[in-house]
Parts: sequence; C-alpha cells; structure tokens
Amino acid sequence: MEMEQNQTIPSMPEKCDLLIKADAVVTQDDDRRVISDAGIAISNGIVQSLGDYDTLCASHVPTERLDMSGKMLMPGLVNGHTHLPMTLFRGFADDLPLMRWLEDHIWPVESKLTEELLGIGARLGCAELIRTGCTSFLNGYFHEHVTGKAVSDAGLRAVLGEGFFDFPSPQFPTAEDCWRTIRHLNQSFIDHPRLRTAVTPHAAFTVSPDGLVASFELAIEMNVPWQIHLAESPTETAVCLKKYGKRPIELLRSLELLTKRTTLHHCVDITDEEIDLLAETCVNVVHNPASNLKLCSGISPVQKMIDAGVTVGLGTDGAASNNQLNMFRDMALAALVGKVRHDDASAVCAQTALDMATRNSAQCLGWSELGRIEVGCPADMIALDLANPNLMPLYNHVSHAVYGATGMEVCMTMVAGEIIYLYGDFRTIDIKSLKFESLKASEWIISKAKQ
Ligand SMILES: [Zn+2]
Repeated sequence: MEMEQNQTIPSMPEKCDLLIKADAVVTQDDDRRVISDAGIAISNGIVQSLGDYDTLCASHVPTERLDMSGKMLMPGLVNGHTHLPMTLFRGFADDLPLMRWLEDHIWPVESKLTEELLGIGARLGCAELIRTGCTSFLNGYFHEHVTGKAVSDAGLRAVLGEGFFDFPSPQFPTAEDCWRTIRHLNQSFIDHPRLRTAVTPHAAFTVSPDGLVASFELAIEMNVPWQIHLAESPTETAVCLKKYGKRPIELLRSLELLTKRTTLHHCVDITDEEIDLLAETCVNVVHNPASNLKLCSGISPVQKMIDAGVTVGLGTDGAASNNQLNMFRDMALAALVGKVRHDDASAVCAQTALDMATRNSAQCLGWSELGRIEVGCPADMIALDLANPNLMPLYNHVSHAVYGATGMEVCMTMVAGEIIYLYGDFRTIDIKSLKFESLKASEWIISKAKQ
C-alpha cells in the first residue's frame, strides 16, 4: 500500500535514509517478482519502498544514494546450518568418513580450543560470509558468546546455539550447568537487534533422550528454535538402532520432539514414511549438500521432501567439512545433486534452490521476515556485479544466481540497511590482521594435533 501511495502522490516526497538504484531486484517475495530498473528506499534498517527507480526517485528525498547500475540486487543469503569457528579446521582433515573424521581428528583438538582461538575462527567465518553474500545464519558451537561478539562487531545477523553433548562433558559437568549457560546466552542478546539464540543438542546419538527432552522444554520456555543434527548418514542410523532400537526420526517422534519449533540438519538417510511424518509435524529441515558429499554421507531426497510439504532450507555446515561457507556453491550443488538423487533434470530447479537459500532457511532460523526484499522487512541484501563474464548474457536472474554465480561476483553486502562490504572493502573487519591471526591459530592447532 505504501509503495502505491509513493507512486501516485509525487508531490509529497517522503524522506528516506538511503535510495538504491539497480539494474534489477530479485525480490523473493510471495510472487517471486524480479523488478527491472529498480529502486529501493531504506529507512531505519527496513525496506521502506520498492519499485521502479524513476518513480521512487520522484517520490523520495534520500539522505544518501547508492548507484548499483550494472548490478542485480537480491536478498542476503541465509545459511541454515554452520559452526562458524570451525573455519579454524578448514583443510585440516580431509577425505574421511563422518565418524572417523569426528572421533579421530576434530573432537580431540576441538576440546582444547581457547576462547581467543574461537574468536579468530568466528571473525574469519564472518569475513567469508560477508564476502560471499550471506547476511544471516543459524549457528551451533561452544562458547557462543564469543561468536556473538564477532557477529555483532561484523554487523551480521545470527541465531546462535550453544552446542552440548551428554553430561558430564568437558564444557558442562551437569545438565543444570548447561541450561544455565543457554539461559544466560539468551538473556544477554535479548535486546540485540541482530542476535537471537536457539537450543542446540548435538545429535540423537550424542545426547541422551532425557537430555533431548529437557532441552526441548528449555526451548519452549525461552520461545526459541530447537535444532539438532539428524539422520545425517546410514552409520548414524545404525548407531541409533543399536542404542535405542529406533531410527533417528522414529526416536524423536517417540519423544514428541517433531514440531514446528524443530529444525533438523541433514536428513539424508530417511524413508518415505519419515518424510510424510516430517511434513505432518511441520518440522524444518536444512540440506547441506557439500558437507554430505564430502563426508560421503549420501544425498538427501530434497525434492521429495519439498513435494511432501516440508520446508527445506540450505546450509554449508562448518568449514571443516565443506570447506567453504559460500552459500552460492551450496545452492548450485543442491540443484545439481538434487537432479541425480531423483533421476530427474527438473528436480531442485533454480527457483527452488534460491528459495531454499533465502526464504526457507529464514524459516529454519525462526526469522521468517528474512530472505526476501519486501516493504517492511529488514534491509538485508547483496549486489552481484553483472559485468563478470560468467554472468553474460542475461536471460534469467534466478538462473544466474544459482548456476552462473560463484559468490565472488558479490560486490555489496548490506545488513539492516548498513553496508558492511562494498567493492572489496570490508567495513567492519580488519582482513590484514585476520590473516596474521589465522596463521597463529593454525600453528596452535598443528601443535595440539601432534600431542
Ligand atoms: Zn553440522
């Protein structure tokens, strides 16, 4: 309504903080509109008006202007599953299956990480997300207050989950210690405009049924999402069957943990009946194609889940098992492996993959106004430079976003109306000192791995 008023009453110009001009805007709104010769007016971090640039120009008095001619704007991508500080382990232990990778390589060193090192990993993760056009994400790791500070300083948006295993664990001697930390994390971000929390048990084979149920009650108490790795591989299913006599999804159903508050990461090894159950219970699923391929976990039946009515978002998983946090690569992979998984070239089409990386992931974060450029929604958006040869010629913007782009075409990243990256300039992160810090961190990790 607001947009129509702006367009029909040019004699009453409206003030705005920023007016952007672009060749096109891929809105990802309910009608999936792509607007050519587009303008976006932004005020107080929110999209105020959206439409034809000349019309908006006549009806708005901006404090600042941003000329994105030759660029296409799209919503900032939403990473539905990652472990940000695991950038420290990028390339540290490759070419291994899930269980050996975790037990022999990641867990022994991970348990010794200091908060200083976690901070370096989190800042490095933020830099990569910003560079590759991701503006918000759902995280799970230890000492999440450290990641929270990095995300807050970087100007990004996140839902942060303090990860936990069975008790006693190196982090938490008792369940109460864990719940106290999670409550405290939640309270510390309660007034933060860009940070929220989620309750994050690691997996059904590493947290007891009692722990899962108690943590879910905590999620209800705090009214936050409850996320868990689930049905990631046939090996996990075998472990679960041996321990509890139930497959992972069956186990969660028996504990009444399949709800619309629930976000499941992976769901690779699932049956048709389980897919129907996920749809009936309105559970959210996050697909992580690069990580699933690299750990040889399998390929999730994404199109089947979507056809059944499941909301499927997209994530990179941690940089140890990807090895990137680049959502553009995972978007392309989701579309490509989705076709092979279903033996159908039309499966996981470009629009589906883009939906997964934007609107659907936003729902997995419990933050559904993200992942779209729409009046009244947060101004989280990115620009792709169409002067790159791999984006020429241009028939279809969505096709280019999914199949043509690599992520390196991102030339502007904005969160809540603030430009945090523009033409190679990181405005919130000191890249030079980050390079030095990550070198120091790698030396420390190598020394601990040898012990
Ligand atoms: Zn994960």
